[in-house]
Amino acid sequence: MTNAADILDAYARLGWKNNDPMAQTLQLRREAPEALADLVLQALDRPLKNATFIDAALDLMDDHAYGTTVAAVWRGGSDSELASAILDSAALQHPEAFAPEWERLLSAVHEGRGGPEYLADHAWRAVDDATLNDWLNRLEPDLSAGSLGRARAIALLRSRRPGMVHEAWRRMFPDAADPEAASWLMLAGYAPHGVGLRALHGERPLHIGFSAAQRRHMLAQQPAWRRELQKAHPTWDAGAAPVAHARMGGALASVCGLCHAPLHRLLTLPDPFAAGIASDTGIEFATCLSCQGWEADSALFYRHGPDGSPQAHPGQRRDAPLTPEQIASPLLEADVALFEAPARWRWQDWGESNGRQNLSRVGGAPSWVQSADYPACPDCGQDMGLAMQLDSGLPQEDGGEWLWGSGGCNYTFWCATCRVSGQRWQCT
Ligand SMILES: [Zn+2]
Ligand SMILES: [Zn+2]
Repeated sequence: MTNAADILDAYARLGWKNNDPMAQTLQLRREAPEALADLVLQALDRPLKNATFIDAALDLMDDHAYGTTVAAVWRGGSDSELASAILDSAALQHPEAFAPEWERLLSAVHEGRGGPEYLADHAWRAVDDATLNDWLNRLEPDLSAGSLGRARAIALLRSRRPGMVHEAWRRMFPDAADPEAASWLMLAGYAPHGVGLRALHGERPLHIGFSAAQRRHMLAQQPAWRRELQKAHPTWDAGAAPVAHARMGGALASVCGLCHAPLHRLLTLPDPFAAGIASDTGIEFATCLSCQGWEADSALFYRHGPDGSPQAHPGQRRDAPLTPEQIASPLLEADVALFEAPARWRWQDWGESNGRQNLSRVGGAPSWVQSADYPACPDCGQDMGLAMQLDSGLPQEDGGEWLWGSGGCNYTFWCATCRVSGQRWQCT
């Protein structure tokens, strides 16, 4: 029988040398899951470095324990590195933990002293309407970088309330042609549309539930702790009935416009609408894994016919095929299930995930590896919204494991008006 204090004592003494705090944390979860909260709260009093097992403990707590724990950390007011990291995770998973002290969060963000920093701006989506209105009404005249007014305007911009976002954006950038204006609006997940805004992503993602054969491949090379952790993580299988089914992997009849080899199927969705994608027919999302990102700098675009099948965009077709530097094997062909993401996991950050969480999802907000970057549709010029993202580590037909670049994430975009998809990956 293990306990929280023993795990922390051993870690303080030995670190990761001849010591396996991750395995101990997983054991603690099996034996006494309620003690994961003790582990996190007791760790706050200790100067721990590289304590990724604490992140794992947070991820594996049930929703109630997590909510209670992050609320206690926020109330405690500690400005330690660990407390900041915990509050960063709360901004994504449980932003309600900061209520009703929104002004205090704003000060912490503005002053950059302790408190949440990098991910804190995700928390603003949980601010109540009355507070947002109050903040808009008394928005400081000085919105220059580093000012309190700027921090407040950013909070309004990240509130996910389109009217509020638009007003804050106009105040921050009276000149819409300011080059910073577009990137800030993209970061907030919107594009200008007529007199208002258009959302560039949905709010309710579906996680891709991989088949048993895919999971065997994906976990085969992983250490035991990661296998156990992923099995327990609700993003891999929330235990709920799937809301849709899809087909992944294999090669298609259509060919790449650059190398003329068969396209690689990413996901065929018989009912995209169930996944929040505007199309009244099925869609076959595909790319050329050999060429994307290597032989073309920008995104690869495809036009989709009435049956949903992709054709290389005419702007990206070559008469003479090029020879890719590496010929990629298609992804392993499999039927996958789509599960509604549990509320706590609707927003996920690529860095926070750190190999624990399933980031392969249809719909919802993108988990950018780098900065927010939605491509313009090559046919109408409008910014394309996010349809899906696929993380690295996908099994391939030849037994390989597909990495986007050095291990990044791929983003699939969709223009419903033109029925054009775009594929672009980011890595570190
Ligand atoms: Zn190609
Ligand atoms: Zn378009």
